[in-house]
Amino acid sequence: MLTPDASALQSVRRRHELRVIETLVAHGTRTRRDLEADTKLSRTTLSTIVGDLRDRGVLAEIDPPTAVTGRNGRPTKHLSLNPSAGAAVGIELGRHRISVSLCGFNGSTVAHEQRSIPGTLGLDAKVQAAADIVKGMIADGRIMPNAVGGVGVGIASRHADPRALADGAELQPDPRGASLAPLRQLLPAPLMWDNNIRLAAMNYGLDGEELLYVVLSAGISSAIVTQGKLLRGGNGIAGELGHMSVDFAGTPCWCGRRGCLESYLNEDNVLREAAHRGQAFPTVAELAKAAQAGDGIAGNIVDWAGELLARAIVDACVLLDPARVVIAGELSQFGDRLLAPSRRDLAAQQLGLGPRTTTVESAPYLPTAGSDGAARMALNHLILSDPA
Ligand SMILES: [Zn+2]
Repeated sequence: MLTPDASALQSVRRRHELRVIETLVAHGTRTRRDLEADTKLSRTTLSTIVGDLRDRGVLAEIDPPTAVTGRNGRPTKHLSLNPSAGAAVGIELGRHRISVSLCGFNGSTVAHEQRSIPGTLGLDAKVQAAADIVKGMIADGRIMPNAVGGVGVGIASRHADPRALADGAELQPDPRGASLAPLRQLLPAPLMWDNNIRLAAMNYGLDGEELLYVVLSAGISSAIVTQGKLLRGGNGIAGELGHMSVDFAGTPCWCGRRGCLESYLNEDNVLREAAHRGQAFPTVAELAKAAQAGDGIAGNIVDWAGELLARAIVDACVLLDPARVVIAGELSQFGDRLLAPSRRDLAAQQLGLGPRTTTVESAPYLPTAGSDGAARMALNHLILSDPA
């Protein structure tokens, strides 16, 4: 005789749990009778689920705002989600940083930890470093593994296959060349991953605003957020602004095209270009400072970078019409002077379809952006059944 296996039972139970949580996210507080009506679960099933969620610290029983007397004469308790219980854990395995965020059900960050790592660390070692941070946060009581509903991981230089994500986090294979098992062992909730910069972009898309997010550092990473969700594309590589050609006869790029923006606008090449023009700077920060102080060569480099950036930004805006373009990363230290050509060319373009209100701005460095965005993806996907 066939018996349903444990994982099938677990997944039914999890679906029931999520129905209860979704109702509480939507309504704020609910009585048990409300929940019965909302979820159509039997009183026995509901009672087990509510008891379990309460024991795990996910739910809290609170006194009603005005005393309502129940059938047994006692005031009816209201149930609500515990705001300080972490609903989702977000982890960024960045190029130079491991960052872990714990987010509540409303998406706010409840706790955060980060650690700098050498740029040479392999992905497996980064996973281990993240596991060590998570272990510490479990040990000091900030993360309650059983209360966590989902885990999101943002990984530098890796892109999730959108087809794998569409089938649910349980079926997403690990990224090429690494195992996420150490994280899965610590946090039993479903885990999903995507590119760290894409997930960081989620923090800058305000209230469903159409956003193009571009990070200019060792290379160029970019992401498009549309209606509060990431645009992944058919192959998971949508929005790679760095591989838009700004010179069809330009230098060959590793991607196979010529004159890609990234071939020019990367930290090393910008410093090389300055040296080539007669002045060497040790870092991009020094170059930015010199430009601000009126140094001619440094200023020319910023203008040159700004003109190249404008070619790609304006083309991207023609195609996507974002409400906001946000430039982050090391080269964003060049400030308004870097953005001026993009603003100028956008203003000059008359499409005749109405006034263009796209803003172009640089973003402050937010160390929690990658891990917060990863937690938000998990929250959207697993709690609200609405993939990021
Ligand atoms: Zn390229």
